Amino acid sequence: MSVLKGYIAGLKVTGRTFLRTMFPEGAKKPIPQPSKGAVTVQYPAEKEAPADRARGVISLVEENCTACMLCSRACPDWCIYIEGHKVKAPPRRVGGAVRTVNALDRFDIDYALCMYCGICVEVCPFDALFWSPEYEYSEPRIADLLHDKERLVEWHETVPEFEAYEAGSQQKVRKVPR
Ligand code: SF4
Ligand code: SF4
Repeated sequence: MSVLKGYIAGLKVTGRTFLRTMFPEGAKKPIPQPSKGAVTVQYPAEKEAPADRARGVISLVEENCTACMLCSRACPDWCIYIEGHKVKAPPRRVGGAVRTVNALDRFDIDYALCMYCGICVEVCPFDALFWSPEYEYSEPRIADLLHDKERLVEWHETVPEFEAYEAGSQQKVRKVPR
């Protein structure tokens, strides 16, 4: 196809889409109704509800996090920052040895870098990370897209209830966090 033919074909597609958007009821009712014909919505005046399991923002359940760093090491964008320190914990059983566990000092996710791949949520063995469908957290300053531990914990309120597994499906093996 010559350049000119390709150009004309492209213009035809654009023209057809324009007419379909402006006149969604076609020749029957040739009155411009762009708000009815458009497949997009006029955000933020209009909002669409995302699916329950949409990857909007990641929430943290702090008490489940052992600061094991698995999520941070698996993150392809290196946008999870974790710091912790060791503390003594009581034995699991009577007569057992005192244990050393990690206490979480810092857990930040930089959403300016995150690509919403979900690897961190998948690899966490302790059910400490969950997806929330909440997506309205844009910021005028890019630096403010770094969400700290407190903010990530707050997102947990917006995580939908867990749905039961389908019959016969393999359930995720849950580990005891501490
Ligand atoms: S993988 Fe889970 S438990 Fe380990 S640091 Fe990340 S969120 Fe915490
Ligand atoms: S969703 Fe992907 S890119 Fe974002 S923090 Fe998790 S692992 Fe990193």
